[in-house]
Amino acid sequence: MSEVTPLAFRERAREALADPVLERALESIRRGWPSARARAIARLPEFDALRDHAREIKDHVLAHLDLYLERFEEAVRASGGEVHWARDAAEARRLVLDICRRANARSVTKSKSMIAEEIGLNAWLEANGITLVETDLGEYIIQLAGQRPSHLVGPAVHMTREEITELFHRHHGTPPRERPEELVAEARKVLRQRYLEADVGITGANFLIAETGTVITVTNEGNAELTHGLPGTQIVIASLEKIVPSMEEAFTLLRLLARSATGQEFSTYTTMVTGPRRPGDLDGPDAFHVVLLDNGRSAMVDGVLRSMLRCIRCGACMNHCPVYLAVGGHAYGSVYVGPMGAVLSPVLYGIEQARPLPEASSFCGRCEEVCPVRIPLPALMRYWREEAWRRGLAPPTARFGMRFWRFLATRPGLYRLVTATAVRLLALLGRRQGGLRRLPLAVGWTESRDFPAPEGATFMSLIGRRVK
Ligand code: SF4
Repeated sequence: MSEVTPLAFRERAREALADPVLERALESIRRGWPSARARAIARLPEFDALRDHAREIKDHVLAHLDLYLERFEEAVRASGGEVHWARDAAEARRLVLDICRRANARSVTKSKSMIAEEIGLNAWLEANGITLVETDLGEYIIQLAGQRPSHLVGPAVHMTREEITELFHRHHGTPPRERPEELVAEARKVLRQRYLEADVGITGANFLIAETGTVITVTNEGNAELTHGLPGTQIVIASLEKIVPSMEEAFTLLRLLARSATGQEFSTYTTMVTGPRRPGDLDGPDAFHVVLLDNGRSAMVDGVLRSMLRCIRCGACMNHCPVYLAVGGHAYGSVYVGPMGAVLSPVLYGIEQARPLPEASSFCGRCEEVCPVRIPLPALMRYWREEAWRRGLAPPTARFGMRFWRFLATRPGLYRLVTATAVRLLALLGRRQGGLRRLPLAVGWTESRDFPAPEGATFMSLIGRRVK
C-alpha cells in the first residue's frame, strides 16, 4: 500500500479499483443507502422545504457564531459543566489528556467522533498510557484492524463479513462466527466489560444547543448512552459549527439527518445530555467537559468556504458520488472522504497536500442534489481547483494543456479547423473496433475504458445540421 496521504490519491485509487473485495463492499452501498434515502424522502412531501429551512438555520448560526458559542458556554457552566476552547488539533489533544489525567484515567471508552479522528486522539491517548476502546461497532472493527474510517456513517463499510469474522477470531480468541448476529453479540459481550471499567467516556456531538448547553448525539447502537452515562467523567469533543440556537432547530436538522444518511426516519437512539449528574439523578457523570475545536473553521466563516460549515455529516454526498463508489474512502488518504472530504481536506492539510481530492470529481452534481443543507459542493471543489492553479500546483502537462486550449479557444476559425481534423482522424482510427484503446492525450480515460470512436463530425457541426 502506498503512503496514507491525500497526495497519493491516484496511486491508492488505482489499488482500490483493482480490489474485487472492495468493489463488492462498495456495491452494497450503491444498492442500499441511496434507494433507502429515496424511499424515505418519498414518504415526506415537505423534505425539500425542510432542506431550505435547514440551510437558513445553518446560515443564521454561522452569521452569529460568536454569539451562540458564548451562549452555549454560559449554559454549560450554569449546568455545572466546563467548556474548553481548542485552536487546533494539538491544543485539543492536550486538553483531553489533561482532563483524563485529572480523572486519573487509565481506561477510556469512546463513541464515534469524526473530530477525534481529525485530531488523532486515539493514538495520542495510547501514546500517553491511556487505553481507549471504540464502542461504535464499525469503529471497534476498524480499531482492531488498525485502519481509518472509510465512510462518515459506516466506518467499516469497506470490510466484508469474512474479514470481520477473521479479525474477531484473531483478537478475541473465540471460534470463528458465521452469522452477523453472532459477531454483534460477541462485540457486545467484549464491550460491556469495557464500559464498566472506563474512567472517562468520550463522545462526539451531532448538535450543541446554545440555549440550554445540551449535547445531542445520535446512534443506532445505544453506545453513546453507555459512554455518557457510566464513567465518572465525560468529555464531549465537537467542532464550532455544531452549534444550533435551540431544540427546535436541532429537530429540523434531525429530521433530515437519518433520512439523508441511511433512509431511516430517525436514528434508533437520540440522546440529550445537559451537564453532569444532578442530585437525585440515577446516572450520569460527576464531571462534564466540552472541548470545542476550531482547527481552521473560524477562518472559513467569512470566506468562500463558509457554506461547507453547514455540513451535518450525513454521508449522502459520498453515497451518491461515482468516484467514492468506485474507489472507497481509504483512497482519499484523509479523515474526511467523498465530495465533502474533497472540500474540507484542503482546509485541514493545505491545498498543497490535498490537491488531488478536489480533482477527484466528474462534477456530475449528484452530491449537491442530495445534500440536505444544500452545500454547493461542486462550486467549492472548483474553488480549490482554481486555488491550486493560482498557486502553481497543477502539473506542467496540465498547465501546458490549458494554455494550448486557451490559444485555440480564442481563435474560432483555427479551433474549428483543428477539432474537425482531429475528429475525422479519430473516426478513421477507431472505425474498425468502434472505439480507441489508447489515446495519447487521454490516457487517464483509456486506461480503464475504450474511447468511443466519434462520428466524424464535431459536436457543433452536428448541432448545426439538426438546426437546419
Ligand atoms: S456535505 Fe451535505 S451530503 Fe455531504 S455529509 Fe455534509 S451534509 Fe451530508
